[in-house]
Amino acid sequence: MSGACEHLALRESMIATARRMNASALNQGTSGNLSVRVEAGFLLTPTGMDYDSLVPEDLVLMRFDGRHEGRRSPSSEWQLHRDILAARPEVGAVLHAHSMFCTTLACLHRDIPAFHYMVSAAGGTDVRCAPYATFGTVELAAHVLAALEGRKACLMANHGMVAVGRDLSAAFKLAVEVETLAAMYWRALQVGEPVLLDGAEMARVLEKFKTYGQQPTPPSREA
Ligand SMILES: [Zn+2]
Repeated sequence: MSGACEHLALRESMIATARRMNASALNQGTSGNLSVRVEAGFLLTPTGMDYDSLVPEDLVLMRFDGRHEGRRSPSSEWQLHRDILAARPEVGAVLHAHSMFCTTLACLHRDIPAFHYMVSAAGGTDVRCAPYATFGTVELAAHVLAALEGRKACLMANHGMVAVGRDLSAAFKLAVEVETLAAMYWRALQVGEPVLLDGAEMARVLEKFKTYGQQPTPPSREA
């Protein structure tokens, strides 16, 4: 079986992340999926499998032309993963989920506005909701790509959410953050109309976020 032992450590960390998606309630049933860029294309979770039973050989190696290798069929959202990874060279991992609060807002076709400064973690002043299209279609992938313009996460109308990152860990952390923001925004909406931060404040926050969590590089290591 070609490629089964290739990227073994990466496959194992994908399975660990998929299980963390269950533990963190990002996943509802087997609806979530995950991809990571590799030299030949990308590794993707298989369709309809319980993450608790996944072994490294179950992950599917996909090419950008849609061909796949391995003993399993790829997630039905392979087109979405393919199109994001093809269009966004800085993205190394894509996470898709039907998490409860992101999906609740997405069913109302609501963006997440600047109600909290952490919205900027997704790259801008809001988290957009992509218009609806049937799951697994090129149309859906195009809507999501447009909603991800200048962003690292978006909601998907009547469906769920997507978070991307330079690697698996970054995509997972952002997905948890966006789901938390969606839950807070939903709660605030139960009481009234949340007060939004203005453009000048969000510009300040976005500027701070460029260096947030980054350690300064020691001068001796600078190229
Ligand atoms: Zn889905």
